[in-house]
Amino acid sequence: MTTTDHEQSVIAAAPKGLSIDGEWRAARSGRTFAVEDPATGHTLAEVADGDALDALDAMDAAARSQATWAAHPPRGRGEILRRAYELLTERADDLALLMTMEMGKSLADSRAEIVYAAEFFRWFSEESVRINGRYTPEPNGRGHLLVLRQPVGPCLFITPWNFPMAMGARKIAPAIAAGCTMIVKPAALTPLSMTALAAILAEAGLPAGVCNVVTSTSAGATVAGILDDPRLRKLSFTGSTEVGRQLIAAASSQILRVSMELGGNAPFVVFEDADLDAAIDGAVVAKMRNVGQACTAANRFLVHESLAEQFGSGLAARLGAMRMGRATDPSVEVGPLIDARARAKVDELVDDAQRHGARVLIGGAPIDGPGHFVAPTVLMDVALDARVLREEIFGPVAPITRFVNDDDAIHAANDTAFGLVAYVFTRDLDRALRVCERIETGMIGLNQGLVSNPAAPFGGVKHSGFGREGGPEGIHEYLETKYVAIHTNAV
Ligand code: ADP
Repeated sequence: MTTTDHEQSVIAAAPKGLSIDGEWRAARSGRTFAVEDPATGHTLAEVADGDALDALDAMDAAARSQATWAAHPPRGRGEILRRAYELLTERADDLALLMTMEMGKSLADSRAEIVYAAEFFRWFSEESVRINGRYTPEPNGRGHLLVLRQPVGPCLFITPWNFPMAMGARKIAPAIAAGCTMIVKPAALTPLSMTALAAILAEAGLPAGVCNVVTSTSAGATVAGILDDPRLRKLSFTGSTEVGRQLIAAASSQILRVSMELGGNAPFVVFEDADLDAAIDGAVVAKMRNVGQACTAANRFLVHESLAEQFGSGLAARLGAMRMGRATDPSVEVGPLIDARARAKVDELVDDAQRHGARVLIGGAPIDGPGHFVAPTVLMDVALDARVLREEIFGPVAPITRFVNDDDAIHAANDTAFGLVAYVFTRDLDRALRVCERIETGMIGLNQGLVSNPAAPFGGVKHSGFGREGGPEGIHEYLETKYVAIHTNAV
Protein backbone atom coordinates (compact mmCIF):
# COMPACT_ATOMS: atom_id res chain seq x y z
CA MET A 1 0.00 0.00 0.00
CA THR A 2 1.49 3.37 -0.96
CA THR A 3 0.98 6.72 0.67
CA THR A 4 -1.34 9.22 -1.01
CA ASP A 5 -0.32 12.73 -2.06
CA HIS A 6 -2.11 14.14 0.98
CA GLU A 7 -0.32 11.72 3.30
CA GLN A 8 2.99 12.72 1.73
CA SER A 9 2.29 16.42 2.17
CA VAL A 10 1.42 15.86 5.84
CA ILE A 11 4.70 14.01 6.37
CA ALA A 12 6.63 16.65 4.43
CA ALA A 13 5.19 19.38 6.68
CA ALA A 14 6.32 17.74 9.95
CA PRO A 15 9.73 18.96 11.18
CA LYS A 16 12.46 16.30 11.07
CA GLY A 17 15.15 18.08 13.05
CA LEU A 18 16.00 18.77 16.68
CA SER A 19 14.30 21.80 18.17
CA ILE A 20 16.91 23.55 20.28
CA ASP A 21 16.80 27.14 21.46
CA GLY A 22 14.12 28.04 18.92
CA GLU A 23 16.03 26.61 15.94
CA TRP A 24 15.44 23.46 13.93
CA ARG A 25 18.74 21.76 13.26
CA ALA A 26 20.40 18.49 12.36
CA ALA A 27 22.04 16.28 14.96
CA ARG A 28 25.66 17.30 15.57
CA SER A 29 26.70 13.86 14.32
CA GLY A 30 24.69 14.41 11.13
CA ARG A 31 22.98 11.06 11.75
CA THR A 32 19.30 10.39 11.06
CA PHE A 33 16.98 7.45 11.68
CA ALA A 34 14.01 6.07 9.79
CA VAL A 35 10.43 6.34 11.06
CA GLU A 36 8.38 3.36 9.91
CA ASP A 37 4.69 2.98 9.09
CA PRO A 38 3.74 -0.03 11.28
CA ALA A 39 0.96 -1.00 8.87
CA THR A 40 3.31 -1.47 5.92
CA GLY A 41 6.87 -1.47 7.25
CA HIS A 42 7.72 1.36 4.81
CA THR A 43 9.86 4.29 5.83
CA LEU A 44 7.85 7.49 6.23
CA ALA A 45 10.66 9.92 6.99
CA GLU A 46 14.24 10.32 8.21
CA VAL A 47 14.55 12.21 11.50
CA ALA A 48 17.60 13.71 13.25
CA ASP A 49 19.25 11.20 15.58
CA GLY A 50 20.35 13.30 18.53
CA ASP A 51 22.92 12.18 21.08
CA ALA A 52 24.42 13.32 24.38
CA LEU A 53 26.03 16.41 22.81
CA ASP A 54 22.73 17.55 21.34
CA ALA A 55 21.03 16.90 24.67
CA LEU A 56 23.63 19.09 26.34
CA ASP A 57 22.86 21.87 23.85
CA ALA A 58 19.19 21.51 24.80
CA MET A 59 20.12 21.57 28.50
CA ASP A 60 22.11 24.80 27.92
CA ALA A 61 19.11 26.38 26.17
CA ALA A 62 16.66 25.30 28.88
CA ALA A 63 18.94 26.55 31.66
CA ARG A 64 19.61 29.86 29.88
CA SER A 65 15.91 30.52 29.36
CA GLN A 66 14.70 29.52 32.82
CA ALA A 67 14.95 32.85 34.66
CA THR A 68 13.35 34.90 31.87
CA TRP A 69 10.61 32.36 31.36
CA ALA A 70 9.82 32.19 35.08
CA ALA A 71 9.46 35.99 35.01
CA HIS A 72 7.13 35.93 32.01
CA PRO A 73 3.69 37.14 33.13
CA PRO A 74 1.35 34.24 34.00
CA ARG A 75 -1.35 35.69 31.74
CA GLY A 76 1.13 35.70 28.86
CA ARG A 77 2.02 32.06 29.54
CA GLY A 78 -1.68 31.25 29.58
CA GLU A 79 -2.25 33.00 26.27
CA ILE A 80 0.48 30.99 24.58
CA LEU A 81 -1.11 27.81 25.90
CA ARG A 82 -4.53 28.91 24.73
CA ARG A 83 -3.18 29.66 21.26
CA ALA A 84 -1.56 26.20 21.18
CA TYR A 85 -4.95 24.68 22.05
CA GLU A 86 -6.55 26.60 19.17
CA LEU A 87 -3.88 25.62 16.64
CA LEU A 88 -4.08 21.96 17.66
CA THR A 89 -7.84 22.07 17.32
CA GLU A 90 -7.72 23.74 13.88
CA ARG A 91 -5.19 21.23 12.59
CA ALA A 92 -6.55 18.12 14.28
CA ASP A 93 -7.28 16.26 11.05
CA ASP A 94 -3.78 16.50 9.58
CA LEU A 95 -2.14 15.88 12.95
CA ALA A 96 -4.31 12.78 13.40
CA LEU A 97 -3.29 11.49 9.98
CA LEU A 98 0.38 12.05 10.82
CA MET A 99 -0.06 10.20 14.10
CA THR A 100 -1.87 7.29 12.48
CA MET A 101 0.85 6.96 9.88
CA GLU A 102 3.70 6.77 12.38
CA MET A 103 1.89 4.93 15.17
CA GLY A 104 -0.77 2.81 13.43
CA LYS A 105 -3.86 3.53 15.56
CA SER A 106 -7.22 4.31 13.96
CA LEU A 107 -7.88 7.85 12.74
CA ALA A 108 -10.65 8.12 15.33
CA ASP A 109 -8.18 7.20 18.10
CA SER A 110 -5.58 9.64 16.76
CA ARG A 111 -8.15 12.42 16.52
CA ALA A 112 -9.30 11.68 20.08
CA GLU A 113 -5.68 11.92 21.19
CA ILE A 114 -5.17 15.30 19.51
CA VAL A 115 -8.32 16.59 21.21
CA TYR A 116 -7.13 15.14 24.53
CA ALA A 117 -3.66 16.71 24.08
CA ALA A 118 -5.19 20.06 23.10
CA GLU A 119 -7.38 20.02 26.21
CA PHE A 120 -4.27 19.96 28.42
CA PHE A 121 -3.17 23.21 26.79
CA ARG A 122 -6.62 24.70 27.39
CA TRP A 123 -6.82 23.45 30.99
CA PHE A 124 -3.36 24.73 31.93
CA SER A 125 -3.91 28.01 30.08
CA GLU A 126 -6.56 28.54 32.74
CA GLU A 127 -4.35 27.31 35.60
CA SER A 128 -1.36 29.55 34.81
CA VAL A 129 -3.06 32.54 36.48
CA ARG A 130 -4.12 30.58 39.55
CA ILE A 131 -0.77 29.73 41.09
CA ASN A 132 -1.47 30.92 44.59
CA GLY A 133 0.62 31.08 47.72
CA ARG A 134 -0.60 32.26 51.11
CA TYR A 135 0.07 34.78 53.82
CA THR A 136 -1.20 33.76 57.21
CA PRO A 137 -0.73 34.91 60.79
CA GLU A 138 1.41 32.68 62.96
CA PRO A 139 -0.73 30.85 65.52
CA ASN A 140 1.08 32.65 68.34
CA GLY A 141 0.20 35.99 66.74
CA ARG A 142 3.83 37.18 66.71
CA GLY A 143 4.50 37.12 62.98
CA HIS A 144 3.36 35.87 59.64
CA LEU A 145 3.99 32.93 57.35
CA LEU A 146 4.44 33.64 53.66
CA VAL A 147 4.21 30.64 51.29
CA LEU A 148 5.37 31.07 47.69
CA ARG A 149 4.90 28.69 44.77
CA GLN A 150 7.77 28.93 42.32
CA PRO A 151 8.66 27.01 39.15
CA VAL A 152 10.73 23.88 39.80
CA GLY A 153 13.19 24.80 37.03
CA PRO A 154 14.42 23.00 33.92
CA CYS A 155 12.71 19.64 33.37
CA LEU A 156 13.47 16.53 31.31
CA PHE A 157 10.47 14.74 29.80
CA ILE A 158 10.79 11.25 28.34
CA THR A 159 7.68 10.06 26.54
CA PRO A 160 6.47 6.81 24.92
CA TRP A 161 5.17 5.92 21.46
CA ASN A 162 1.63 4.80 22.35
CA PHE A 163 0.25 8.33 22.83
CA PRO A 164 2.94 10.23 20.93
CA MET A 165 1.49 13.67 21.56
CA ALA A 166 -0.72 13.47 24.64
CA MET A 167 1.89 11.96 26.96
CA GLY A 168 4.10 14.94 26.16
CA ALA A 169 1.24 17.45 26.34
CA ARG A 170 0.39 16.33 29.90
CA LYS A 171 3.89 17.38 30.99
CA ILE A 172 4.63 20.27 28.62
CA ALA A 173 1.41 22.24 29.24
CA PRO A 174 1.63 22.39 33.07
CA ALA A 175 5.38 23.04 32.91
CA ILE A 176 4.78 26.02 30.61
CA ALA A 177 1.98 27.23 32.87
CA ALA A 178 4.22 26.97 35.93
CA GLY A 179 7.13 28.81 34.28
CA CYS A 180 9.51 25.88 33.76
CA THR A 181 11.72 25.27 30.74
CA MET A 182 12.15 21.77 29.36
CA ILE A 183 13.85 19.19 27.20
CA VAL A 184 11.58 16.58 25.63
CA LYS A 185 12.88 13.21 24.43
CA PRO A 186 10.03 11.51 22.51
CA ALA A 187 10.04 7.82 21.58
CA ALA A 188 12.09 7.02 18.47
CA LEU A 189 9.20 5.01 17.01
CA THR A 190 6.91 8.08 16.86
CA PRO A 191 8.91 11.33 16.85
CA LEU A 192 6.88 13.26 14.27
CA SER A 193 3.83 13.98 16.43
CA MET A 194 6.16 15.62 18.97
CA THR A 195 8.14 17.65 16.44
CA ALA A 196 4.80 18.80 14.98
CA LEU A 197 3.71 19.86 18.48
CA ALA A 198 6.99 21.74 19.03
CA ALA A 199 6.38 23.66 15.79
CA ILE A 200 2.88 24.56 16.96
CA LEU A 201 4.19 25.79 20.32
CA ALA A 202 6.67 28.05 18.52
CA GLU A 203 3.89 29.34 16.29
CA ALA A 204 1.78 29.98 19.39
CA GLY A 205 4.51 32.32 20.61
CA LEU A 206 6.50 30.17 23.03
CA PRO A 207 9.90 31.87 23.36
CA ALA A 208 13.06 30.12 22.12
CA GLY A 209 14.65 27.72 24.58
CA VAL A 210 11.55 27.05 26.70
CA CYS A 211 10.61 23.74 25.06
CA ASN A 212 13.47 21.89 23.37
CA VAL A 213 12.92 18.56 21.60
CA VAL A 214 15.67 16.01 21.06
CA THR A 215 14.74 12.96 18.97
CA SER A 216 17.10 10.04 19.39
CA THR A 217 17.48 6.30 18.95
CA SER A 218 19.90 6.05 21.89
CA ALA A 219 17.62 7.18 24.71
CA GLY A 220 19.73 6.06 27.67
CA ALA A 221 23.04 7.49 26.42
CA THR A 222 21.40 10.68 25.18
CA VAL A 223 19.81 11.61 28.50
CA ALA A 224 22.49 10.23 30.84
CA GLY A 225 24.58 13.43 30.82
CA ILE A 226 21.71 15.77 31.52
CA LEU A 227 20.37 13.55 34.30
CA ASP A 228 23.70 14.21 36.02
CA ASP A 229 23.66 17.92 35.19
CA PRO A 230 23.11 20.03 38.31
CA ARG A 231 21.04 22.50 36.28
CA LEU A 232 18.28 19.93 35.68
CA ARG A 233 15.66 20.03 38.46
CA LYS A 234 12.97 17.57 37.47
CA LEU A 235 12.41 14.35 35.53
CA SER A 236 9.00 13.22 34.34
CA PHE A 237 8.76 9.90 32.54
CA THR A 238 5.97 7.93 30.95
CA GLY A 239 6.86 4.41 29.86
CA SER A 240 7.64 0.95 31.15
CA THR A 241 8.17 0.17 34.83
CA GLU A 242 11.52 -1.39 33.93
CA VAL A 243 12.92 1.81 32.38
CA GLY A 244 11.19 3.90 35.07
CA ARG A 245 13.09 2.00 37.75
CA GLN A 246 16.42 2.74 36.03
CA LEU A 247 15.51 6.40 35.67
CA ILE A 248 14.51 6.73 39.34
CA ALA A 249 17.96 5.40 40.22
CA ALA A 250 19.65 7.77 37.75
CA ALA A 251 17.64 10.71 39.13
CA SER A 252 19.08 10.12 42.58
CA SER A 253 22.50 11.57 41.74
CA GLN A 254 21.12 15.14 41.48
CA ILE A 255 18.15 14.44 43.83
CA LEU A 256 15.77 15.35 41.01
CA ARG A 257 12.09 15.80 41.58
CA VAL A 258 10.57 12.79 39.81
CA SER A 259 7.16 11.90 38.34
CA MET A 260 6.61 8.43 36.94
CA GLU A 261 3.71 7.16 34.84
CA LEU A 262 4.56 3.50 34.47
CA GLY A 263 2.93 0.24 33.44
CA GLY A 264 -0.49 -1.08 34.39
CA ASN A 265 -2.39 -4.33 34.66
CA ALA A 266 -5.92 -2.98 34.91
CA PRO A 267 -8.67 -5.23 36.26
CA PHE A 268 -12.12 -4.80 34.71
CA VAL A 269 -14.59 -6.10 37.27
CA VAL A 270 -18.20 -6.86 36.36
CA PHE A 271 -20.47 -7.56 39.36
CA GLU A 272 -23.67 -9.58 39.12
CA ASP A 273 -25.89 -6.47 39.28
CA ALA A 274 -24.02 -4.69 36.47
CA ASP A 275 -25.76 -3.33 33.39
CA LEU A 276 -24.36 -5.92 30.98
CA ASP A 277 -24.67 -3.78 27.84
CA ALA A 278 -22.92 -0.87 29.54
CA ALA A 279 -20.19 -3.25 30.76
CA ILE A 280 -19.63 -4.56 27.24
CA ASP A 281 -19.54 -1.01 25.82
CA GLY A 282 -17.04 -0.05 28.51
CA ALA A 283 -14.98 -3.16 27.81
CA VAL A 284 -14.70 -2.34 24.11
CA VAL A 285 -13.35 1.13 24.95
CA ALA A 286 -11.10 -0.01 27.79
CA LYS A 287 -9.67 -2.83 25.69
CA MET A 288 -9.59 -1.55 22.13
CA ARG A 289 -8.54 2.09 22.43
CA ASN A 290 -5.11 2.21 20.78
CA VAL A 291 -5.54 -1.51 19.94
CA GLY A 292 -4.93 -2.22 23.61
CA GLN A 293 -1.60 -0.37 23.61
CA ALA A 294 -2.32 1.80 26.63
CA CYS A 295 -1.14 1.56 30.23
CA THR A 296 -4.81 2.05 31.14
CA ALA A 297 -5.98 -0.82 28.89
CA ALA A 298 -8.20 -3.39 30.62
CA ASN A 299 -5.82 -6.30 31.06
CA ARG A 300 -7.90 -8.76 33.12
CA PHE A 301 -11.66 -9.16 32.89
CA LEU A 302 -13.03 -10.47 36.20
CA VAL A 303 -16.69 -11.29 35.71
CA HIS A 304 -19.23 -12.64 38.17
CA GLU A 305 -19.95 -16.26 37.30
CA SER A 306 -23.62 -15.50 36.58
CA LEU A 307 -22.69 -13.11 33.73
CA ALA A 308 -19.41 -14.55 32.46
CA GLU A 309 -20.73 -16.47 29.42
CA GLN A 310 -22.98 -13.64 28.27
CA PHE A 311 -20.26 -11.06 28.79
CA GLY A 312 -17.75 -13.21 26.88
CA SER A 313 -19.99 -13.85 23.90
CA GLY A 314 -21.15 -10.20 23.81
CA LEU A 315 -17.58 -8.90 23.87
CA ALA A 316 -16.47 -11.43 21.26
CA ALA A 317 -19.30 -10.35 18.93
CA ARG A 318 -18.30 -6.68 19.25
CA LEU A 319 -14.57 -7.28 18.80
CA GLY A 320 -15.15 -9.68 15.93
CA ALA A 321 -17.09 -7.01 14.02
CA MET A 322 -14.25 -4.48 14.13
CA ARG A 323 -12.52 -3.79 10.85
CA MET A 324 -8.75 -4.32 10.77
CA GLY A 325 -6.22 -2.75 8.39
CA ARG A 326 -4.02 0.25 7.69
CA ALA A 327 -5.83 2.86 9.71
CA THR A 328 -5.40 5.78 7.31
CA ASP A 329 -8.68 4.36 5.95
CA PRO A 330 -11.31 5.99 8.21
CA SER A 331 -13.44 2.83 8.30
CA VAL A 332 -10.62 0.86 9.95
CA GLU A 333 -11.03 0.47 13.72
CA VAL A 334 -8.15 -1.90 14.46
CA GLY A 335 -4.72 -0.87 13.22
CA PRO A 336 -1.46 -2.79 13.58
CA LEU A 337 0.64 -3.03 16.73
CA ILE A 338 3.66 -0.75 16.87
CA ASP A 339 6.35 -3.23 15.82
CA ALA A 340 7.27 -6.85 15.23
CA ARG A 341 8.45 -7.32 18.81
CA ALA A 342 5.12 -6.13 20.20
CA ARG A 343 3.21 -8.49 17.93
CA ALA A 344 5.46 -11.44 18.79
CA LYS A 345 4.91 -10.83 22.52
CA VAL A 346 1.11 -10.67 22.21
CA ASP A 347 1.04 -13.81 20.04
CA GLU A 348 3.16 -15.54 22.67
CA LEU A 349 0.79 -14.55 25.52
CA VAL A 350 -2.22 -15.87 23.59
CA ASP A 351 -0.42 -19.11 22.86
CA ASP A 352 0.59 -19.51 26.52
CA ALA A 353 -3.01 -18.90 27.69
CA GLN A 354 -4.30 -21.55 25.29
CA ARG A 355 -1.70 -24.03 26.53
CA HIS A 356 -3.00 -23.29 30.05
CA GLY A 357 -6.50 -24.28 28.92
CA ALA A 358 -8.16 -20.99 27.91
CA ARG A 359 -11.06 -21.24 25.49
CA VAL A 360 -10.78 -18.96 22.44
CA LEU A 361 -14.07 -17.17 21.73
CA ILE A 362 -12.68 -15.16 18.85
CA GLY A 363 -9.28 -14.48 17.27
CA GLY A 364 -6.35 -16.35 18.74
CA ALA A 365 -4.47 -17.16 15.54
CA PRO A 366 -1.37 -15.19 14.44
CA ILE A 367 -1.68 -13.10 11.27
CA ASP A 368 1.08 -13.02 8.66
CA GLY A 369 2.70 -9.69 7.65
CA PRO A 370 3.21 -7.20 6.19
CA GLY A 371 2.30 -4.94 9.07
CA HIS A 372 2.24 -5.98 12.71
CA PHE A 373 -1.38 -7.07 13.01
CA VAL A 374 -2.98 -9.08 15.83
CA ALA A 375 -6.64 -10.09 15.55
CA PRO A 376 -8.96 -9.01 18.39
CA THR A 377 -9.03 -12.01 20.71
CA VAL A 378 -11.30 -13.01 23.58
CA LEU A 379 -10.10 -15.80 25.88
CA MET A 380 -12.52 -17.47 28.30
CA ASP A 381 -11.65 -19.11 31.61
CA VAL A 382 -8.00 -18.18 31.59
CA ALA A 383 -5.90 -20.01 34.20
CA LEU A 384 -4.64 -17.75 37.02
CA ASP A 385 -1.02 -18.64 36.32
CA ALA A 386 -1.24 -17.78 32.60
CA ARG A 387 1.19 -15.00 31.67
CA VAL A 388 -1.59 -12.98 30.01
CA LEU A 389 -3.03 -12.20 33.46
CA ARG A 390 0.30 -11.28 35.04
CA GLU A 391 1.93 -9.18 32.31
CA GLU A 392 0.89 -6.03 30.53
CA ILE A 393 -0.59 -7.33 27.24
CA PHE A 394 -0.40 -4.15 25.11
CA GLY A 395 -2.56 -5.72 22.42
CA PRO A 396 -6.20 -6.47 21.51
CA VAL A 397 -6.55 -9.51 23.76
CA ALA A 398 -9.26 -9.82 26.43
CA PRO A 399 -8.70 -12.63 28.98
CA ILE A 400 -11.79 -13.43 31.08
CA THR A 401 -11.89 -15.16 34.47
CA ARG A 402 -14.89 -15.74 36.75
CA PHE A 403 -15.43 -14.87 40.40
CA VAL A 404 -18.05 -15.91 42.93
CA ASN A 405 -18.11 -13.17 45.60
CA ASP A 406 -16.99 -9.57 46.07
CA ASP A 407 -14.06 -10.39 48.34
CA ASP A 408 -12.62 -12.75 45.75
CA ALA A 409 -13.07 -10.12 43.03
CA ILE A 410 -11.31 -7.41 45.06
CA HIS A 411 -8.55 -9.79 46.08
CA ALA A 412 -8.00 -10.80 42.44
CA ALA A 413 -8.12 -7.16 41.28
CA ASN A 414 -5.37 -6.22 43.77
CA ASP A 415 -3.27 -9.30 43.10
CA THR A 416 -0.74 -7.46 40.95
CA ALA A 417 2.33 -5.31 41.48
CA PHE A 418 0.69 -2.57 39.39
CA GLY A 419 -1.89 -0.02 40.52
CA LEU A 420 -2.79 2.40 37.77
CA VAL A 421 -6.49 1.99 37.06
CA ALA A 422 -9.39 -0.41 37.62
CA TYR A 423 -12.79 -0.52 35.94
CA VAL A 424 -15.77 -1.44 38.10
CA PHE A 425 -19.28 -2.16 36.83
CA THR A 426 -22.13 -2.35 39.33
CA ARG A 427 -25.47 -0.58 39.83
CA ASP A 428 -25.32 -0.89 43.62
CA LEU A 429 -24.00 2.37 45.11
CA ASP A 430 -22.89 0.82 48.41
CA ARG A 431 -21.02 -1.93 46.63
CA ALA A 432 -19.47 0.59 44.21
CA LEU A 433 -18.13 2.79 47.00
CA ARG A 434 -16.93 -0.19 49.05
CA VAL A 435 -15.04 -1.56 46.08
CA CYS A 436 -13.59 1.85 45.13
CA GLU A 437 -12.26 2.22 48.70
CA ARG A 438 -10.57 -1.18 48.64
CA ILE A 439 -9.08 -1.30 45.18
CA GLU A 440 -5.40 -0.33 45.18
CA THR A 441 -5.10 1.92 42.14
CA GLY A 442 -4.65 5.62 41.44
CA MET A 443 -7.81 5.74 39.29
CA ILE A 444 -11.10 3.89 38.90
CA GLY A 445 -13.55 3.93 36.02
CA LEU A 446 -16.93 3.39 37.68
CA ASN A 447 -19.39 2.13 35.08
CA GLN A 448 -17.20 3.55 32.34
CA GLY A 449 -14.27 2.30 30.33
CA LEU A 450 -12.32 5.54 30.06
CA VAL A 451 -10.79 7.63 32.85
CA SER A 452 -8.43 9.98 31.00
CA ASN A 453 -9.57 13.56 31.48
CA PRO A 454 -7.38 16.69 31.45
CA ALA A 455 -9.36 18.08 34.40
CA ALA A 456 -8.61 15.01 36.56
CA PRO A 457 -5.45 13.75 38.29
CA PHE A 458 -4.10 10.87 36.21
CA GLY A 459 -1.58 8.58 37.89
CA GLY A 460 -0.87 5.34 39.66
CA VAL A 461 0.31 3.69 42.86
CA LYS A 462 2.60 0.69 43.49
CA HIS A 463 4.68 -0.23 40.40
CA SER A 464 2.54 2.06 38.25
CA GLY A 465 4.46 5.04 39.59
CA PHE A 466 3.82 8.30 41.40
CA GLY A 467 2.87 11.87 40.59
CA ARG A 468 -0.31 13.09 38.93
CA GLU A 469 -0.90 14.63 35.52
CA GLY A 470 -3.90 16.83 34.78
CA GLY A 471 -6.37 18.56 37.05
CA PRO A 472 -5.37 21.14 39.63
CA GLU A 473 -2.86 18.54 40.88
CA GLY A 474 -1.05 18.53 37.53
CA ILE A 475 0.61 21.89 37.98
CA HIS A 476 1.91 21.08 41.46
CA GLU A 477 4.37 18.65 39.88
CA TYR A 478 6.09 21.75 38.43
CA LEU A 479 5.99 24.02 41.45
CA GLU A 480 8.25 24.24 44.48
CA THR A 481 6.98 25.52 47.79
CA LYS A 482 9.04 28.18 49.53
CA TYR A 483 8.15 29.36 53.00
CA VAL A 484 9.26 32.68 54.44
CA ALA A 485 9.01 33.17 58.19
CA ILE A 486 8.40 36.88 58.58
CA HIS A 487 9.44 38.69 61.67
CA THR A 488 7.54 41.91 61.62
CA ASN A 489 6.62 44.57 64.09
CA ALA A 490 3.85 45.80 61.83
CA VAL A 491 1.15 43.64 63.36
P1 ADP B 1 7.64 1.35 25.82
O1 ADP B 1 7.54 -0.07 26.24
O2 ADP B 1 6.39 2.14 25.91
O3 ADP B 1 8.45 1.57 24.56
P2 ADP B 1 9.91 2.32 27.24
O4 ADP B 1 9.95 2.50 28.69
O5 ADP B 1 10.82 1.35 26.60
O6 ADP B 1 8.40 2.02 26.98
O7 ADP B 1 10.10 3.71 26.48
C1 ADP B 1 9.49 4.89 26.86
C2 ADP B 1 10.44 6.03 26.60
O8 ADP B 1 11.62 5.82 27.36
C3 ADP B 1 10.89 6.16 25.15
O9 ADP B 1 11.04 7.54 24.83
C4 ADP B 1 12.24 5.47 25.17
O10 ADP B 1 13.10 5.95 24.14
C5 ADP B 1 12.77 5.90 26.53
N1 ADP B 1 13.80 5.02 27.09
C6 ADP B 1 13.96 3.69 26.92
N2 ADP B 1 15.03 3.26 27.61
C7 ADP B 1 15.55 4.33 28.25
C8 ADP B 1 16.66 4.54 29.14
N3 ADP B 1 17.44 3.55 29.53
N4 ADP B 1 16.88 5.79 29.59
C9 ADP B 1 16.09 6.82 29.23
N5 ADP B 1 15.04 6.68 28.41
C10 ADP B 1 14.76 5.47 27.92
